[in-house]
Amino acid sequence: MKIFNTLSRKKEELQTIEPMKIRMYVCGPTVYDFIHIGNARPMIVFDTFRRYMTFLGYEVNYVSNFTDIDDKIINRANELGISAEELANRFIDECKKDMQGMNVMPATTHPLATKEIDGMIKLIKDLVDKGYAYVAKDGTVYYDTTKFKNYGNLSHKNLDDLQSGFRNLKVSGEEDKKTFTDFVLWKPKKEGEPYWESPWGDGRPGWHTECCVMAPKYCNGTLDIHAGGEDLVFPHHENEIAQYEPLYGVPYAKYWMHNAFLNINNQKMSKSLGNFHTVRDVLEKFDGKVLRLFMLSTHYRAMLNFSFELMESSKASLERIENCVNNIKFILKNKGVTVVADTKLENIDDFNELVVDIKTDSELINGELEAFDRICEYIKEFFDKMDDDLNTADAETQVYEIVRVINQTVNENSSISFLNSSLLIVETLLNILGIDLNNITTVGSDIDETLIEKMILERAEAKKAKDFAKADEIRKNLLDMGIELEDTRQGVKWKKV
Ligand code: AMP
Ligand code: ZN
Repeated sequence: MKIFNTLSRKKEELQTIEPMKIRMYVCGPTVYDFIHIGNARPMIVFDTFRRYMTFLGYEVNYVSNFTDIDDKIINRANELGISAEELANRFIDECKKDMQGMNVMPATTHPLATKEIDGMIKLIKDLVDKGYAYVAKDGTVYYDTTKFKNYGNLSHKNLDDLQSGFRNLKVSGEEDKKTFTDFVLWKPKKEGEPYWESPWGDGRPGWHTECCVMAPKYCNGTLDIHAGGEDLVFPHHENEIAQYEPLYGVPYAKYWMHNAFLNINNQKMSKSLGNFHTVRDVLEKFDGKVLRLFMLSTHYRAMLNFSFELMESSKASLERIENCVNNIKFILKNKGVTVVADTKLENIDDFNELVVDIKTDSELINGELEAFDRICEYIKEFFDKMDDDLNTADAETQVYEIVRVINQTVNENSSISFLNSSLLIVETLLNILGIDLNNITTVGSDIDETLIEKMILERAEAKKAKDFAKADEIRKNLLDMGIELEDTRQGVKWKKV
């Protein structure tokens, strides 16, 4: 597996600290409102990375925080007349619902900044004691960026350039800092703000200190991978390194992965432009699987443009896949084969075994072995692309190619082996991308397969009883739910429209 490391600006072979184990930390959202679809990008991208590495056999310790204390939280809570804690808890719950809607797995640990204040005070104290931080008159503690020789290495910025460029720039409330790039480790409380006691007076920690304490604590020291959006490279991640490395004398993280931004209709997403979509809004219009397919249709380091037209096109792509899978299930059902709802393989060894088994399967009929040869090439390509810095965009293309070959090959005479294996292959590859065809992933959901099957059965009974008005009504109700029926010689088929 090769990943692009922001630190070296090169693709590097992933070599983990412990064999077959990954310690990973992903900066999570600040919880003052519903998350927007920009926040969803790192969630989906790094969840896919986690799923893929798990499929390859790695044990992934995946840590992702919620920033639950911050200016934005305090301001919003004051506006609403509730406590910062209440506001943060409310939006942590909402964020978890959105994650579920997008089929993003819960982290191994979701630390909260407000529960880790003691660790932060200790880190700041150590930095002050060792001369890397200084205390200003008002009790603000600043990190002294001139003391850390590697400052700027991650973002490839030169400290002198940075300082000369901004020499005259004063941030209000930070007049006492010595150098422009110095950053706040501890800020004194203001009237009406939550605070904690510290050796420098009542106050709260700076944002960069939060992640720097939580990440090594829950990942057990140096991280294999630290990830987040590209806006975090500087100053957030640069500042995390600056706090950790001088104290511990070991690297903070081996690899740094950063996703590029998501824009809307080719414009930066912002509240003031009004081109802002929450994940919740999008999930009310589209299944979470569509959002995932869309997010992964562009390489994570390339700018991603969001529009509802593009989402419609991802929806159409998902439907092509679903129709292929439903067709296979339908043919299997007619052959009297019960399809287990959850058909997918959990790891690469089982998958490789399946591919070997297919090639020696004597049940295959004319043309199926050739079709499998082509499918196997696309499978190989799928894994090569995933191994190449998580190129999910090209990996998705391989799934479409596989679906095309299956559609060309299957019919009611297909062998059960071919049908079963095709199903297993498509569902397994999609599952690596976090797309579970057997699961409806819409917040405030609409489609329910059991209900559809039940309605189809009722319609059949109505027809049998010559109650055609009722049968038509059921067909219409299903159509209103976005389900179209097709009466075939083998029985009733349904698809999403
Ligand atoms: P925040 O709540 O602003 O700290 O953001 C949480 C995560 O979402 C961070 O990893 C950000 O880099 C990422 N993020 C925020 N906005 C966008 C965007 N428009 N596109 C991609 N990632 C974003
Ligand atoms: Zn962070």
